[in-house]
Amino acid sequence: MLITCDLHIHSALSPCALNDMTPNNIVNMALLEELTAIAVTDHNSCENAEAAMKVALGTGLVVIPGMEVQTREDVHVVTLFPGIEEARAMQQAVYDTLPPIKAPKKQMEKQLILDDDDEITGYCDKLLNMSCSLTVEEVCEKALALGGVAIPAHIDRKSYSLLSSLGFVPKNLPVKTLEVSMFSDKEPYEKQYPQYRIITDSDAHELGHIAMVRNTLDVETVSAHGIIKVLNTQYA
Ligand SMILES: [Zn+2]
Ligand SMILES: [Zn+2]
Repeated sequence: MLITCDLHIHSALSPCALNDMTPNNIVNMALLEELTAIAVTDHNSCENAEAAMKVALGTGLVVIPGMEVQTREDVHVVTLFPGIEEARAMQQAVYDTLPPIKAPKKQMEKQLILDDDDEITGYCDKLLNMSCSLTVEEVCEKALALGGVAIPAHIDRKSYSLLSSLGFVPKNLPVKTLEVSMFSDKEPYEKQYPQYRIITDSDAHELGHIAMVRNTLDVETVSAHGIIKVLNTQYA
């Protein structure tokens, strides 16, 4: 079955995202855009993913819990999980390896933890915009071990990407999918990396960017599990 999805969206938990990126606003925008699935992928945290999943219950929209991990090498890796428990296990692994310093108050106030009524229930006190000490390889292996998938994010970007930091895609990296940002054409990357599935996500930090680019995936089951399975399948 062919579905359309945007698998890299930030909520108000990310210090660089707008405060109106609430669980209800994100889900409603995804429904307006007639997406089948989205993923909530905040920097180094998944604190708002469960609220978005709750909001989407009964709407038909699949919300995949995830996070965009910033590795030791300053590489952004989108990780997606079949359920909130697995996402929280990844979050714990990342929290354990972030610098042991609390975020300054000004930053903390931009890291909103929201419930499914969009009420603020707290502020994340971690430095979510910093690198954890896990390597790219460790992040990818951990995501896979938890039943999830790891996708090197926006590989076309000149910073915080696999290509900007390492300069190449390591052959032994357990990934089958690479992401190109909405600012680049994915065709040159499909030509350069024919063995990988290339996807494009919005990486939305504001509501208007959700689904500005989207992916069509052929899934067996319309679920987080079904989507993760496709993204982990050898492409060519
Ligand atoms: Zn990023
Ligand atoms: Zn991002």
